Amino acid sequence: MSAQPTPYVVIGAGIHGLSTALHLARELRASGGGSGSDVMVLDKTGVGAGASGIACGIVRNNYFQPAMRRLMAHSVEIWESDAGAGAAALGYHPVGYLQLGPEAMRADVRQIHAEQQAIGYESTYVEGEPACRDYMRALFPDWQAEGVTCLLHEKRGGFANNRTSLRGLAAAARAEGVQIRAGVEVTGLDIAASGTVRAVVTDQGAIDCGTLVVAAGPWVRDLWRMLELPALISLRGPDGVLRTDQPMWSYWLVQEGTLKVDPDTFTDSSGAEPPVVHLDTDAPLYDETGGLVTDHPWGIYYKPDHNFGGVQGGGMPRRLDVPPDAVAVDPYGPQHSAYTAGEDFARLWTAGLAHCHRRFTGLSHLFSREPSGGIGCFTPDSFPVFDLVAENAYVIADSNHGYKMLGVGALVAKELLGEPQELLEPFRFTRYEQGALHPTSRSPFPWS
Ligand SMILES: Cc1cc2nc3c(=O)[nH]c(=O)nc-3n(C[C@H](O)[C@H](O)[C@H](O)COP(=O)(O)OP(=O)(O)OC[C@H]3O[C@@H](n4cnc5c(N)ncnc54)[C@H](O)[C@@H]3O)c2cc1C
Repeated sequence: MSAQPTPYVVIGAGIHGLSTALHLARELRASGGGSGSDVMVLDKTGVGAGASGIACGIVRNNYFQPAMRRLMAHSVEIWESDAGAGAAALGYHPVGYLQLGPEAMRADVRQIHAEQQAIGYESTYVEGEPACRDYMRALFPDWQAEGVTCLLHEKRGGFANNRTSLRGLAAAARAEGVQIRAGVEVTGLDIAASGTVRAVVTDQGAIDCGTLVVAAGPWVRDLWRMLELPALISLRGPDGVLRTDQPMWSYWLVQEGTLKVDPDTFTDSSGAEPPVVHLDTDAPLYDETGGLVTDHPWGIYYKPDHNFGGVQGGGMPRRLDVPPDAVAVDPYGPQHSAYTAGEDFARLWTAGLAHCHRRFTGLSHLFSREPSGGIGCFTPDSFPVFDLVAENAYVIADSNHGYKMLGVGALVAKELLGEPQELLEPFRFTRYEQGALHPTSRSPFPWS
């Protein structure tokens, strides 16, 4: 055991672990109750080694669930402000975000817009196919997708360069005195009979801790198990029935890729960096040889990105069958290429780009063959869990929504210092048993 307990041990140097550590350090300094040197971040690999370092980096507000929207609005403020670590230092591109949808999504998107107005989140809503086409052609003269009948243009948000933002956060945390230890793997927890975590056990010895924060991204299931929390949970569904055998975690493959074109050639009609575009549609999709790719609903998102060296984006996630008793999932370690997008995705995504813009027609051969995309760990309702799960152990499990949620760390830091945060209240673990679930949209697309 270490001689002096470390007051705050954070597992994971991704967006949440780093943001929590940074804000905790700032809060401790401001209150006079401590300093950054009371905070230690452990990562089995290093800064940005997990999902945060591979994320497309989209920052949007567009969620059907009011609690998610309020939380995202708070995070966008942090992206925009200097409170994060300096907007420029985080590689943030405030280009906005465009959601385009088919008829099946119209009512929901209209409602999202109305509710965005109510919370003062700036966006434009357009409906009807001719009006949507005109709007898109004014933005992109080569726009050619048919069947878009609703459009929400968020004027805030955009995207950020994943590694840049993590390096920026890590530098800001270190400047506050936070110790970030790379190459230290947590292999177990020493838990007292009372349930208090006494120490984290690592491959380099035990570290006594005051408070533990788990921000392990897709590895959260392994830490959950170390915390002696259940693999199967009780969940009260919308029908009021309590089911006691619901798996706590499931895995989805987030399929992404890059078209290797000069990112500077993908501008809007004014020559400016365009908003992130996200199309969901039920229009049939054909590839450049005229072959039918799909006649089921499909969706893609994309933006020009120098970091990835082209037009980068993704498509709908795909559920993965990871055995529930698998010893460990290492999606970003040696097994990474097993968890990346394949040929089916490449065909759909490149056909999707050409479906939207004439300029991408006939360019599917420029799809990068490097492994891309990655795996996300999802909760039973696919929304985050932010909660104190033991007297001194806090879990940040974002259900793969989280790169954009830069502000969560600021809120968690306050909760750790005894100030409950209303924005995090709808994301407690107890909601499953209570049936206090978030509303579900009518959209056929999983990300809505
Ligand atoms: C391909 C892809 C694209 C995405 N795109 C977006 C997007 O555009 N916008 C968006 O908002 N979200 C996006 N996401 C989701 C987002 O990336 C994640 O929700 C978020 O990054 C999770 O952050 P985190 O800090 O919880 O975890 P991570 O970034 O995964 O960090 C966890 C860290 O914990 C460390 N760790 C794990 N286990 C241990 C252990 N036992 N001991 C020590 N260290 C450990 C890991 O090494 C890792 O560095 C995307 C996800 C994927 C996979």
